[in-house]
Amino acid sequence: MDGIVLLIEDEEEIADLLRLVFEKEGFRLLHAASGEKGLSLMTERSPRAVLLDLGLPGIDGMEVCRQIRATSDVPIIMLTARDDEIDKVVGLEIGADDYVTKPFSPREVVARVKAVLRRSEQQPEAPAAITIADFEIDSGRRTVRTPAGDVVEPTAREFDLLWHLARNRGIVLSRSQLLEAVWGYDYFGESRTVDVHVRQLRKKLPDVPIETVWGVGYKMGR
Ligand code: CA
Repeated sequence: MDGIVLLIEDEEEIADLLRLVFEKEGFRLLHAASGEKGLSLMTERSPRAVLLDLGLPGIDGMEVCRQIRATSDVPIIMLTARDDEIDKVVGLEIGADDYVTKPFSPREVVARVKAVLRRSEQQPEAPAAITIADFEIDSGRRTVRTPAGDVVEPTAREFDLLWHLARNRGIVLSRSQLLEAVWGYDYFGESRTVDVHVRQLRKKLPDVPIETVWGVGYKMGR
């Protein structure tokens, strides 16, 4: 793979570390040390993917993410300093595609970038709809119509997870199977990602029968 990856990160050491690995893999890493600089490089250079630090001086990573999302579908991977920031990143629905917790291995970051690029380049499957417990899950519109007729729009990743569970209705799927199918990378020890997204889906669609199978994973009931 090749192309420009934009890194928005105020720590020089991290930038140096990532630059080495990305260049070895054939990417060009552009580094911006602030959100402001990152946003201007974003419009000047149209990178294929963005690595975005959550804790930046000036405009913070969340706001940078929102501003990029307002105009672009570029894959965004958040770099978060602490495990407990994950809920914040996912929960606020700022539109990031993935996140990596610091300290990370640079190879893992490259793997994530490749995975989001592969996903964003995949041909979408033919649109279809699946009805579960009177909820109509529409893969063309990427929305869910409730039995009361309301239309709910999950985030992109929440929808992919819901769709994958719905297509495999009645089958127990482990967290690593879900990570592989929906996030597209091998299990890196971040199975909490799946739990956080299931929690968000249950909040938005409490009556869709996503069942927890203790010690294994999840399954869509009937
Ligand atoms: Ca930082």
